[in-house]
Amino acid sequence: MQAATSRPRIALYWASGCGGCEIAFVNLHERLLELDARFEIFFCPCLVDTKRADVEALPDGALALTLLDGAQRSDENVAMAQLLRRKSQLLVAYGSCAHEGCLPGLANLRSTASLLDTVYAGVAEPSRPRARSAVPEGELHLPTLLPRVLPLAEVVDVDYVIPGCPPEPDTLWRALGQMFEDPPPPRGAVLGAGESAVCRECALRREDKTIVRLRRVHELIPEPTRCLLEQGILCMGPATRDGCGALCTRVGMPCIGCYGAPEGVADQGAAMASAVGSILDIEPLRDRSEKEIAAAIDATLDAVPDWAGTCYKFSLAASLLGGRRT
Ligand code: SF4
Ligand code: SF4
Repeated sequence: MQAATSRPRIALYWASGCGGCEIAFVNLHERLLELDARFEIFFCPCLVDTKRADVEALPDGALALTLLDGAQRSDENVAMAQLLRRKSQLLVAYGSCAHEGCLPGLANLRSTASLLDTVYAGVAEPSRPRARSAVPEGELHLPTLLPRVLPLAEVVDVDYVIPGCPPEPDTLWRALGQMFEDPPPPRGAVLGAGESAVCRECALRREDKTIVRLRRVHELIPEPTRCLLEQGILCMGPATRDGCGALCTRVGMPCIGCYGAPEGVADQGAAMASAVGSILDIEPLRDRSEKEIAAAIDATLDAVPDWAGTCYKFSLAASLLGGRRT
């Protein structure tokens, strides 16, 4: 247990995720000293040694802020989200998993039973993990998986969102400043990022947004100064919130969508499908039959082997099309 201080207390908690959001936090580098001067990091299992019981012992609302990252995948995640919601004045969905499910959310394409069958293929039932197991020392409890991966906002009220996989440290720092402004941003706001699309801050040259075929990144060395989408590489820039500085396109890689949909766009994957539909050049097919046009379009789209994993890599669990299925 840490010694009590007069600084407001904050928490950083990791649900079902990879830990990248914690790395982004540590990558604040010397700005951590500024943060530490203003706040006490009271609870953060990968940085300080306070326990769940220490949080439970706090009065409700005792934490000024909790950054909660990772998706909601298990009953333990939900219990911790509810506890931290109760103890926190501000609860922030920190990073793509908490915001919209991120990569863990792709599990929603399968049932829990089929996921477990894949992971534990060849492992007979008595040896598979169970919620409760009797051992000589007593009863062991393991978290139980939810039927599907949920964004944090589907489990508890969320005050703000910080997007990104992980959020860029500059995004996190801007967001931390914004949430303590007077007056504060409206509840539910996405902080630290822009409202438009990555294309807005991408420096690559746009000329003629029509494409005749789609290509995967290993199939060509792109022209270094020209829009990747115009070169047939599926860049999620038109359907992704700006604010990262177009980091990926700066080094010749397509945006894969980690900041989620721009402001006002309800479904990132549908927005990208719409963008692709609007730039496919079907002019050469003008005189063909509908059947031939459909076949040619199908052949073009077949160049992308995993549309769900491409257009919904980060947002499936929160999407209109894929997120509400059980
Ligand atoms: S589609 Fe991609 S490469 Fe083209 S302008 Fe937008 S972000 Fe840049
Ligand atoms: S360019 Fe796209 S994928 Fe890359 S960091 Fe920015 S939002 Fe994320």
